[in-house]
Amino acid sequence: MPMPTGIRPGALKTSKNSKPTTTPPSDRPDFERKSSQERKSSVMEIFHHKEKRGSLVGRSNSPTKGSPKNSPKISATKPAKLVIDMESPPLIFHGSPASSTGALLSGQLLLTVTDPEVTLQSFEMVLVARTTFKKPVSKDCPDCATKTSEVFKWKFLSEPTKYKKGGHTFPFSYLLPGHIPATSHGGLGDIDYVLDCKAITTLSDSITVTRSLTVERALQPTGDKVSIRVFPPTNLTARVVLPSVIHPIGEFPVQLSLTGVIDNSLNNVERRWRIRRMNWRIDEQTKIISAACKKHAPKIGGEGKGILHEEVRSIGGSDIKSGWKTDFDTHGGQIDYEFSAALKPNCKPLCDVASPTGLEASHNLILELIVAEEQTSGVGKNTAMPTGAARVLRMQFKLVVTTRAGMGISWDEEMPPMYEDVPSSPPGYTKMEDFEGDLGPDEELERMRQ
Ligand SMILES: [Zn+2]
Repeated sequence: MPMPTGIRPGALKTSKNSKPTTTPPSDRPDFERKSSQERKSSVMEIFHHKEKRGSLVGRSNSPTKGSPKNSPKISATKPAKLVIDMESPPLIFHGSPASSTGALLSGQLLLTVTDPEVTLQSFEMVLVARTTFKKPVSKDCPDCATKTSEVFKWKFLSEPTKYKKGGHTFPFSYLLPGHIPATSHGGLGDIDYVLDCKAITTLSDSITVTRSLTVERALQPTGDKVSIRVFPPTNLTARVVLPSVIHPIGEFPVQLSLTGVIDNSLNNVERRWRIRRMNWRIDEQTKIISAACKKHAPKIGGEGKGILHEEVRSIGGSDIKSGWKTDFDTHGGQIDYEFSAALKPNCKPLCDVASPTGLEASHNLILELIVAEEQTSGVGKNTAMPTGAARVLRMQFKLVVTTRAGMGISWDEEMPPMYEDVPSSPPGYTKMEDFEGDLGPDEELERMRQ
């Protein structure tokens, strides 16, 4: 018999937990691992730009709010305008981070010069990955609340260049690497992608435009997943069939069959289990490592450390009181049940994500069956009496929540399919609990006796 390697329900953490942890450098994504001094400074620069731009906007829109005495005078009208025009279809990664070939991002920047002529000193655009921590290390510190890194940078000019009044276009493209995490918005934090473009004139006018991008991941279904759970010392074996992926919207089928229901080991007496009640629940587990800014790193024991926050929330579930088919005539007995499950509408689920920057989301289906034992007297199979024994069969299965592949033209469609081989797992041995509480009279059993 193979060694039990199935997931045990006991392994599920159901408590909110916060403890300091270290972010190993190998956990960072490529674009972070490569972070050299130059990258770091460019990130700082982004912060700087944002602050500056924010204050510029603030001043030009509401001059009374600023303190014009202390700041240099800026002209109310810019010599040019910038617009980002996206051409690529929705950015969807097809397949897992390890197998996805990425998504092609393309578009053009439209520079509209309103002055008779303008000379641009620099003209750049940065694609920024931004992680927002909703429980930052230091409350109210914007540097602790956000961590940004540069994914890609376009430099449109190598030397100062003159542009005449009118429109000028600058095409850009980039193959977004398939391993980076998708845009995610959760209770503990967010992952966002932003295009941040800035042109600076020789007269120090800065013309900016930003645009956020939504990056999604669509994992392909790879056929149904069959899981087996056994419940020693009984002969009960549960076989559960689930789709390999589910989606935020829409129902999915769950097939359950319970075998080893009848125990004939005693002479003239048949002992058997009957399902009395069942329930299912879908849990979403989120985990994030809030990193500290340089200033607040000493607070948690130095740089490279963070605080782990975990959250579990239920995003679907139901109690089931009837509907299964009990067959005591089949050898060993069998109980079958098929039902539809779905995530709660408006629960805003996270799709499964494992971001090296610290945000992780995963899902589990928890299935609980309450079974009661009964015993035939030997006179006839149809007269049975409850023995009073009742058990809770608790099972847990991993569910993968992913974006629907949708209608967008996939960069991957011309590529041969790459599926990760998922080996069929050995049965999971599951701890069984005695059921404590009042089950009430068994209607099915009562009906049978009449
Ligand atoms: Zn801070």
